[in-house]
Amino acid sequence: MPYINENTLNEILGRTDIVALISEYLPLKRSGKNFTALCPFHHEKTPSFIVSLEKQIYHCFGCQAGGNAFGFLMQYDRLEFPEAVEILAKKANIIIPKEKKSQNQGLINRLYEINEITADYYKSNLQSKEAGKALDYLKNRGIDAAAIERFQIGYALDKWDGLLSHLHSRKIPLSLIEKSGLVIHRNNAGHYDFFRKRIIIPIKDIRNRVVAFAARVLENTLPKYINSPETLLYSKSRTLYGLNVSRESIISNDLAIIVEGYFDLITSARFGIDNMAASCGTALTIEQVRLLKRYSSNVIMLYDSDRAGEKATVRSLELLIEEDMFVKVAQLKSGYDPDNFIRESGALKFKEALNNAKDIIDYKIDILQSKYSANDAGSKAKITAEILPLLNKFKNEVVKSEYIKKICHRISIEQPAVMAELKKLNKHPTIRPDVLADGFESAVKKKGFCPESMLIRLFLDEDEEMTVYLRHKINPEDFVDRNLNRILTMFNDAIESHGRINVNALINNSSDAELSKTICELAAYEMPVINDKFKLADDCIAKIREKTRRSRQNEIYTQLKTAQNAKDENRIKTLLTEFQLISKKG
Ligand code: ZN
Repeated sequence: MPYINENTLNEILGRTDIVALISEYLPLKRSGKNFTALCPFHHEKTPSFIVSLEKQIYHCFGCQAGGNAFGFLMQYDRLEFPEAVEILAKKANIIIPKEKKSQNQGLINRLYEINEITADYYKSNLQSKEAGKALDYLKNRGIDAAAIERFQIGYALDKWDGLLSHLHSRKIPLSLIEKSGLVIHRNNAGHYDFFRKRIIIPIKDIRNRVVAFAARVLENTLPKYINSPETLLYSKSRTLYGLNVSRESIISNDLAIIVEGYFDLITSARFGIDNMAASCGTALTIEQVRLLKRYSSNVIMLYDSDRAGEKATVRSLELLIEEDMFVKVAQLKSGYDPDNFIRESGALKFKEALNNAKDIIDYKIDILQSKYSANDAGSKAKITAEILPLLNKFKNEVVKSEYIKKICHRISIEQPAVMAELKKLNKHPTIRPDVLADGFESAVKKKGFCPESMLIRLFLDEDEEMTVYLRHKINPEDFVDRNLNRILTMFNDAIESHGRINVNALINNSSDAELSKTICELAAYEMPVINDKFKLADDCIAKIREKTRRSRQNEIYTQLKTAQNAKDENRIKTLLTEFQLISKKG
């Protein structure tokens, strides 16, 4: 097996979202913090297959299958580890440093090359006579030569084989062209160009490589836009348009403005507003949010001021909050999008709209208040019921409590009422209603968890205060179970060297499949609502101590018998003293 170093593995996992990955294979349903599905690895009628977004692992409580993203591909597609790594690396656009380039890497490089040639070809088309209308169109939208150059805008001629014959003339084999998604194969009728008679906008990754193309019609026929199909290089849900040009500006402003359309971004950039990325007509995906998060945690959503825009905004908000992003929502005059607004009103007014961006909760309350306009108890209850799930996404308690104040103030309700509703919401059953409803003892027993495993589970919450507390209170030696003992040692090592427990990395680095499975199982287990986690920890520790005490007493008892048989008076005395000491402690 070719050696792939740990950093590369972690980088690949860092850019992989296991929920999105597994969704490609099974329909996942959200359930609390996790996702569930019918297990693909054993036959079942009620789902016990859990995918944890937070921990990036999966586990089946039915058949004990479990692991990280690599593990899933290996198990599902019956792949070897290096193959699984290669597939995920490809998806994440990560090149695995290897001595010998794999065949696939060669293919990927060729596809980039084809895209580059294609982008040049489309751009040169724009200078041809036939592209007159396209140039007029761009001019009408205020796109000047500099913008055309900067964004490499081009034109696909009204021909069936314009690109195809160009690529042929460059001696590129048809099999390769097919893989680029730039041509379509028609049964018995050969191949033809995918894009025809459209303005072409190359979509680039952050390393400035063309991964796909978007194409817009000149008239207002539908569909207005078509995109390259998904290829080895291109995954729509993982791509944000414009990041290659805006990344620096997003970092220096520590703010990303998210718009819907290509031209929103291109036009804004022309007006000097660069810290922008376009989601290309849809709500943000978790992969896009994570991509963004690498450059800034601050986001202003600026979608079209129509129903569709509002819907996409609302859908994106939850994800952004879940990923700990700070979000505001900017709104334009009704009927406008960023592109026509900035052209009509100028950069100053545009910046004004950005400065007036609403706080996320205010935005949501505004929407709800226009939906439930009456100022009566019923409307207030409905507004509260719809806003609390959003509020609940905030992880930070201070932020949450400030927002509770805001909500109370804005719809004039009392805080205790909101708190009570919030509590109800958090009590909602997640994976196993029967288990979670009646708390710790039964949850632990039904799951077959021992106090040791519950403590390990508490570690996995990565609550800093709890971690310090547990590290102070327990040692691996306290754990009789060899596996759990080793897991605690691994945790301690990880905290010492990295400051945190990265479940994913632990699974990668552990050569013991049993350990990995146990870690996955504990990580996938969603904790019941526990009022006092520290008391739970103390309970577990007390139980462990009691168990240790009993087993030591039994040991002494056996040893005593041996000593009595041997008439070893000194030994008997020592053992008796110890026995009394231990018994007193209990
Ligand atoms: Zn299973």
